[in-house]
Amino acid sequence: MVDVANSTNTGLSAGDPTRFLVNDLCALLETYLEPEQIRRVERAYLFSAQAHQGQKRLTGEPYIYHPLAVAQTMAEMRMDADSIIAGILHDVIEDTPTAKEQLVIEFGQDVADLVDGVSKLTHLTSESRAEAQAENFRKMMLAMVNDLRVIMVKLADRLHNMRTLRIMPPEKRRRIARETLEIYAPIALRLGMNTLRVELEQLGFEALYPNRYRMLDNAVKRSRGNRKELLQKIEATITGRLQAAGIESRVFGREKSLYSIYRKMRQKRLSFKEVFDVFAMRMIVKDVDTCYRALGVIHNLYKPVPGRFKDYIAIPKANGYQSLHTVLFGPHGIPIEAQIRTEEMDRVAQVGIAAHWLYKTGDNSSIKAQTRAHQWLKDVLEIQQSAGNSQEFLEGVKADLFPDEVFVFTPAGEIRQLPRGATAVDYAYSVHSDVGNTCVAVKIDRRLAPLSTVLQSGQTVEVITAPSARPNPTWLNFVVTAKARANIRHFLKNQQHEEAIRLGQRLLGRALASYDLDIGSIDKTQIGSLLKDIGLDSFEALLKDIGLGNRMAQLVARRLVDSGDKPLTSERASAAGMPLAILGTEGMVVSFAKCCHPIPGDPIVGLMSAGRGLVIHRDACHNVTPHRDKLDKWIQVFWSQEPVGEFTTGIRVQSANQRGVLAALASKISDEGSNIENVSFEERDGITTTITFLLTVNSRRHLARIMRVIRSTPEVYRVQRTRG
Ligand code: MN
Repeated sequence: MVDVANSTNTGLSAGDPTRFLVNDLCALLETYLEPEQIRRVERAYLFSAQAHQGQKRLTGEPYIYHPLAVAQTMAEMRMDADSIIAGILHDVIEDTPTAKEQLVIEFGQDVADLVDGVSKLTHLTSESRAEAQAENFRKMMLAMVNDLRVIMVKLADRLHNMRTLRIMPPEKRRRIARETLEIYAPIALRLGMNTLRVELEQLGFEALYPNRYRMLDNAVKRSRGNRKELLQKIEATITGRLQAAGIESRVFGREKSLYSIYRKMRQKRLSFKEVFDVFAMRMIVKDVDTCYRALGVIHNLYKPVPGRFKDYIAIPKANGYQSLHTVLFGPHGIPIEAQIRTEEMDRVAQVGIAAHWLYKTGDNSSIKAQTRAHQWLKDVLEIQQSAGNSQEFLEGVKADLFPDEVFVFTPAGEIRQLPRGATAVDYAYSVHSDVGNTCVAVKIDRRLAPLSTVLQSGQTVEVITAPSARPNPTWLNFVVTAKARANIRHFLKNQQHEEAIRLGQRLLGRALASYDLDIGSIDKTQIGSLLKDIGLDSFEALLKDIGLGNRMAQLVARRLVDSGDKPLTSERASAAGMPLAILGTEGMVVSFAKCCHPIPGDPIVGLMSAGRGLVIHRDACHNVTPHRDKLDKWIQVFWSQEPVGEFTTGIRVQSANQRGVLAALASKISDEGSNIENVSFEERDGITTTITFLLTVNSRRHLARIMRVIRSTPEVYRVQRTRG
């Protein structure tokens, strides 16, 4: 027996009122943990007591009572040392100045992660969430943890809070009780933790419906007196018969919980008498064979009620529960519900997944928590499959514990479900296609985040929209939902359609101007016959073709003019060029070449490229020169007075190869109001390094300013703009 008070060095006074709690806990742990692990638990206790020093519960007790009670519940389920320690420390991150890093140092990464996981769940409250959302909330909690032990600590935490709920004001008491019945008890049920679930339900029921609880409680007390003698007689009779058949057993009557009576009365519309006047007996025997033999014995003793026998040993329940169930006609025709199972099955029936935690493994730390949860599922799944009943299991437990979805909150506290990997843009489209189409930024847990951020369960997501905003084609690289993808594609297609028509109009207008004509002055029949010749059904379609670069404006203009009275002279053709002004707002049909990255102020030329529209290059771009002779494809362009938008361009920086240079440069660039889109490195000789930045600017002047600032950095030797 490890006695904390007697061990040296604990720093506790002999009169420490929590000593007996720790001693109880350690006594229980000794039945299944190594002494070395128990010493870690003691250390956690001292650490936690220190951290919570001076804090009190609302009950007036020292705060440390609460974490110790949580650890005690974990120990009763025979959880591993890390879980017990996490139970003792579960409130230190949340309620004391202790940092997670400190827990890593003191108790290791696993314990720190568990405590951190519990703290995260503590931040989730279902306060004011709609009732219909309870199921989603439950799923969200499970989706948020990657170690199920976090949930177990949380359930134990909730259990102790429910046990001390009386101290709370009525309103708060009801809210917590409702949350317990709707969220925590069902999770305990999922995990097969029945003992804990029944107590949560009982306490929740009492706090939420005190009158109904009292009425039922009185009814049970009255009936219990009448039945006590009979129950003892039945117990003795069964035990005797089993003994006579050579079967060792523990036989005991069990009482239904008030909440299960209440639920049965409501769901099946039964009277109290109908539900309660059933005796329930449980028989624990040594192995599976004996279960069936015992069943034979009691079916011989009392007649079974036809159709009520269930073999959950051969076909276990979804959470791994195994037992034989039967109903008997007892003395005076009173029905007896009997359950027969082994010790191991009984343990699983009580603590569920917790029963699998220490089981089958010699070395606890060698198996990761998640692997173990999977192992548990696999075990249960195997039993299910051999029983040919895996469907229910797969749909229920697995979907809940290893979800393919993430659950996030709207700013109003509503829960939304999205597929795993969904980004802020997917979320925006899930709200409404208009929200998606006009989103410009997103706040995740009240902090601005990139639109491409992948969402995590439990986050609160708020989309910021601007009426003039438009979907960005690059979103297609990261969205995962079909709805977002379809909406973006649809929008871009429409958008491109309109932009192409506008550009086509400008290009044709410009080509006609070299004949001193404009679009309005062309004869309608002329246009009609051209459309017929080339097989298009509208003038718009023709303009769109021109805008997309599928048709040359010069050729179209010539055809429109040819049949008229103004034959084109060669001088005129070569003069084909009032240059086109580039505004920067043309959208997708005007793009800027990635080879030379032109920005406003650069001398530029335009190249019509089939299907893509007009691509703008720098006049000096190496890619331009070889095509110079294909005159009809080139368009003279110039920058309009004040081009709008951000333009990407590249600069190459040679600097000393020293730590921190890149960070310094990046922060200077960003201080100048520019975004860095890409950085690449080239180390020449260990002394100098060449860094190429792709960044956004709005003019040559803006770029010059950035380059000046970079040049003034002492480590930098040289700054150049990249060439095409
Ligand atoms: Mn707590």
